[in-house]
Amino acid sequence: MNRVIINEALCKGCRLCIDACPKDILVLDTGKVNAKGYNPISCTDMPACTACAICARICPDSVISVERGTALKSASTDSKATDSHADEGGISK
Ligand code: SF4
Ligand code: SF4
Repeated sequence: MNRVIINEALCKGCRLCIDACPKDILVLDTGKVNAKGYNPISCTDMPACTACAICARICPDSVISVERGTALKSASTDSKATDSHADEGGISK
């Protein structure tokens, strides 16, 4: 799944990203106030995000970063640990 990562502390609630998002999934979170005294944005429907990154590009304060997810693919790296202990040579006195 794609992800929108929001650095809420930096957001000044200017709404540029909200107006720019083609999926209309960004809103001001009126339940939160950041240290700057603004309502930061939040994403209402993460699965709908296309990772177009328009929001990230339009934000003047670099609040948003977008992560493109991989489609239903669990990457299980098959790491074969060849755990062959080198024999330490029995010290026989
Ligand atoms: S990456 Fe695109 S679809 Fe996703 S929240 Fe930003 S503008 Fe909207
Ligand atoms: S464009 Fe940036 S500063 Fe403005 S509301 Fe969106 S995230 Fe916040």
